Amino acid sequence: MTEHADGRPIAIRCGRLLDVEAGMLVDDRVLHVAGDGRITAVAAAPDGTPDGAEELDLSGLTVLPGLIDVHTHLVGDVQTAGVPSTTTSAAEEVLIGVRHARETIRAGFTTVRDLGSFRAFTDCALRDAIDRGDVVGPRMQCAGAFITAPSGGGDVVGLARDIVLPEELRFGVVRSVDEVRERVRRLLIGGATMIKCIGTGAVLTRGGVPGAPELSEAEIRAAVEEAAWYGTHVAVHAHGAEGAKRAIRAGARSVEHGSYLDDEAIAMLADTGTFFSVDLYDGEWALGPDGPTDWPADTMRKLRESQTSAEAVVATAIGRGVRIAFGTDSGVYPHGQNARQFTSYVRAGMMSIAAIRTATTTAAELMGWSDRVGSLTPGRFADLVAVAGDPLADVTELERPVVVAKAGLIVRDERGAARTA
Ligand SMILES: [Zn+2]
Repeated sequence: MTEHADGRPIAIRCGRLLDVEAGMLVDDRVLHVAGDGRITAVAAAPDGTPDGAEELDLSGLTVLPGLIDVHTHLVGDVQTAGVPSTTTSAAEEVLIGVRHARETIRAGFTTVRDLGSFRAFTDCALRDAIDRGDVVGPRMQCAGAFITAPSGGGDVVGLARDIVLPEELRFGVVRSVDEVRERVRRLLIGGATMIKCIGTGAVLTRGGVPGAPELSEAEIRAAVEEAAWYGTHVAVHAHGAEGAKRAIRAGARSVEHGSYLDDEAIAMLADTGTFFSVDLYDGEWALGPDGPTDWPADTMRKLRESQTSAEAVVATAIGRGVRIAFGTDSGVYPHGQNARQFTSYVRAGMMSIAAIRTATTTAAELMGWSDRVGSLTPGRFADLVAVAGDPLADVTELERPVVVAKAGLIVRDERGAARTA
């Protein structure tokens, strides 16, 4: 994977730097960045700019590691009111994704785990274009498609029964353990980074019951075992407690959503260290004044019920010390508003620094990328977001990034107020 650093060393002057692990701000630091975009040293100013290095002066700002969202949907429009992906081509969906990728990284999210699209492998095409430097966007892990039961939360539903869809639109639909193994292998050989299983019904899928399990424990375990052979992990979408318990017992890396987790499921998350990628802001957006006006009444009902339950689940999970990772389900709400979820987490009971860790160190650990992202320390990429104020005192500072850089190269700069394309 290329990082499209331009080969020149960079010295980044930080007025204040957030040490995420220690949970404190340190004044006047200089990040030394090698030509490959990785940090080689974090020096106390005025240690100076290394010979030949280009300087990036952020001395008036507070610098944090680039943020990570572990549950996005950059390609196409997932919040479509109609039947997903049947009115747009693959090319159109990827090009829509180009805009979403730019909006996401400009919001300070320099890494994402993208959890599936209805049209298989379109997410991989976007990731590869970003890695080549053709498109501006975050580092991506992607799922390639959804592993889902027929008529499940990741299937295309709502069509007449005699309409036959192309394989790409039902690539992850499985009917048995053997089919799970075959589809997982084809996804990973075909370019997916990791696997997403739809373990229960979904809120936005017509007719789905969010609490109802849709994959067996044996099917999820088969996905986990196959993924492990390819050195990667499985995320399981599970609103209901039974689906989440199956996922945890089967060895999933993360449970997504968890709206209806019971105390036993929360205890299992805490005891096993399974990551909990829980979205709150998307529901707040959809139920708020800027929410959609064209979603069916039944979808809005499911949304209200699951949101109320999820808020209580998150408060309990925080108290139990569950490893919460920052997943927003972006695409349900408008791309680029990801950072608004920090406030949702703080309202549920987290300190600001704990909320920031969900989107930095913990998210990197979930993705298996602690060696490259999640903190501004030697060996990691110089992916950063700089804000004017103190995000530990006011976490909404993260909604107003002044500068965003990936591998030391600027992708957003509001300092000069110059308008860019
Ligand atoms: Zn999702």
